[in-house]
Amino acid sequence: MAGSAIQRRLRAAGFSNFVTRSHAELDLTDQAAVEAFFEAEKPEIVYLAAGKVGGIKANNNFRAEFIYQNLMIEANVIHSAWQHGVQRLLFLGSSCIYPRDCAQPIHEDYLLTGPLEQTNEPYAVAKILGVKLCESYHRQYGARFISVMPSNLYGPNDSYDLDNCHVLPALIRKTHEAKVNGAPELVVWGSGKPRREFLFVEDMADACLHLMESEIDSGLYNVGMGSDLPIKELAELIMDVVGYNGQIVYDESQPDGTPRKVLNIDRLKSLGWAAKTQLREGIAITYKDFLSRRDQD
Ligand code: GDP
Repeated sequence: MAGSAIQRRLRAAGFSNFVTRSHAELDLTDQAAVEAFFEAEKPEIVYLAAGKVGGIKANNNFRAEFIYQNLMIEANVIHSAWQHGVQRLLFLGSSCIYPRDCAQPIHEDYLLTGPLEQTNEPYAVAKILGVKLCESYHRQYGARFISVMPSNLYGPNDSYDLDNCHVLPALIRKTHEAKVNGAPELVVWGSGKPRREFLFVEDMADACLHLMESEIDSGLYNVGMGSDLPIKELAELIMDVVGYNGQIVYDESQPDGTPRKVLNIDRLKSLGWAAKTQLREGIAITYKDFLSRRDQD
């Protein structure tokens, strides 16, 4: 989802000479294969959006895969990018890198100031490693590698696999199916009380290009809306967009995760960037994409 949005945004800005590989063509956890790719293609600019991602259940259950695959991908790509003189690299992480109980909204400087949320700690540790790789290659060698930490992303091309996906696509699918089946209830995991900040993936891609075209050489940048809402209100908003008016029931056997993670986006704002897509509008576009992809299946 993130990589294809970045590519669409770059294409719209006039870029055309893309070098991409599907997962089947290039296994980024394979150091020799990554090295051969950089040697053959010699890319000038790198957007590292690849990684193993998933929602709260997948992160909690597949802890080994989340830490291993993400740290291998980052170490291989960032090291090869440096070895092959890549001019600029953008590493995409996640707002879960910050301490679970830190002050809100979360400033970039809160990184590594406290313990992490347990449900996604392996993924978060791997993403912190990516931030530190970019920082280290910059400080020692002057590499122009920057890190971008978005809040919970959603939009076209998301995954709707209920065991592995994030809350927003999960609730779009569950609400749509409840409507179509005439079900009286919509099951929402946890208590509905945790608050989350959602960012439309096209806005994230716009922020990435904005940063890559700025004079910035290095550092960590939060990207988000700067506002959040409880999962209960997200469910109500999705029900409204989908046109379903059953009852919400909470499955408290599922974890809540971190209570809140809204980002402080002043650093990116000071560079003249702000998100354009409000949550309701973004959900409506995403629901349309969900419906059109279902029709193709
Ligand atoms: P997180 O932001 O890393 O916790 O990841 P998620 O997007 O998977 O979950 C966010 C919150 O939404 C958690 O409190 C979940 O318990 C809650 N949630 C409610 N219903 C669902 C659902 O159907 N799927 C998912 N993934 N989360 C849900």
